[in-house]
Amino acid sequence: MSKATGGCFCGSVRYEIDGEIRNSTVCHCAGCRRASAAPALAWVTVSADSFEIAQGRLATIRGRKGEKGTCDGCGGERRFCPKCGTHITFVADDRTGEVDVTTGSLDNPDAFPPEKDEGLRSKIAWVKPFA
Ligand SMILES: [Zn+2]
Ligand SMILES: [Zn+2]
Repeated sequence: MSKATGGCFCGSVRYEIDGEIRNSTVCHCAGCRRASAAPALAWVTVSADSFEIAQGRLATIRGRKGEKGTCDGCGGERRFCPKCGTHITFVADDRTGEVDVTTGSLDNPDAFPPEKDEGLRSKIAWVKPFA
């Protein structure tokens, strides 16, 4: 078990992870890229019951399977700070027991280096894989 904390750019959203970080990835899919306006988006995966909003609330944007905004065709919910737009979580429809949390919103992203790249078929040509 590990404990991690994080939050959004403007400081209105804070969250805590009290549980194992299962997975550390960088996703190159078009949905993650557009939702974050970054060339690729790093994620850690935790169990849903270990993720808790400590302050503020999140706004939700839904993407159904195959639609714009999904992660390589995987439907789910992306959650953001409603004030500053920082992308905080993704919950995929086919693994609702888990929450993907943006590594870049963690207070200590150094502790979670990526172990693999995902969504490589959508990768921008000038972006090198991270793992
Ligand atoms: Zn914010
Ligand atoms: Zn993605």
